[in-house]
Amino acid sequence: MEKISNKVINRLTQYHSILVASIKKGETTVTSSYMAQLLKIDDSQVRKDVSMLNNTGKSRVGYDALELKETIEKTLGFSNPKNAFIIGAGNLGTALAKYNDFEDYGLRVLALFDIDKNKIGKSINSKPVYDINELSRYTKEKNVEIAILTVPADFAQSIADFAVKSKIKYIWNFSPAVLSVPVGIDVWNENLMGNFLQFSYKISK
Ligand code: NAD
Repeated sequence: MEKISNKVINRLTQYHSILVASIKKGETTVTSSYMAQLLKIDDSQVRKDVSMLNNTGKSRVGYDALELKETIEKTLGFSNPKNAFIIGAGNLGTALAKYNDFEDYGLRVLALFDIDKNKIGKSINSKPVYDINELSRYTKEKNVEIAILTVPADFAQSIADFAVKSKIKYIWNFSPAVLSVPVGIDVWNENLMGNFLQFSYKISK
């Protein structure tokens, strides 16, 4: 299959959410027009996106919800679980560690890391909190490539450097800091305030 653009990936994640909700309600089929209506896009766009996937057909009443959900999961790599560490066991790190649904999306959070002696040695949702100085050892031992960064912005760059030295390859950055990383390291920024600024701009027009 050809490389999928970010825009299509974004729509696939939205179709996936709709399919999960429909399956929960006991529906077995979902039509392209239903998904298009919810997402305020054209029906033909949904059909075009789905036709790119290796989804085996569509009945007259719509897509088989479970089959399409599984096809999207396979396409997006859900079925290939990835291990991750959270760096920063504060408010956000704790909330993410308590979010069990990550597992359904192929993300396994194994442990947290912090500098705070009051947090090190404790557990959050059965996940141990380790001393940040142990990061390199555990990264190798558990073969972890993803770090979820939830430290204060002022420390984010130095911790990102440290994570890269510890052989972390992918950083999911929740801090508002703009990180500079070597070639070959991927950063995905979860910039909540940036998103809000876009939203704020849209609604203030
Ligand atoms: P917090 O102060 O509650 O937690 C930060 C944690 O990082 C603390 O446990 C602290 O001990 C730890 N820490 C500090 N320096 C460290 C280091 N060098 N190595 C390892 N751990 C270190 O902060 P928070 O509210 O959880 O926010 C964390 C980050 O997420 C911030 O950058 C914030 O801007 C961003 N953020 C938070 C929220 C939220 O809802 N709390 C929302 C969006 C973004």
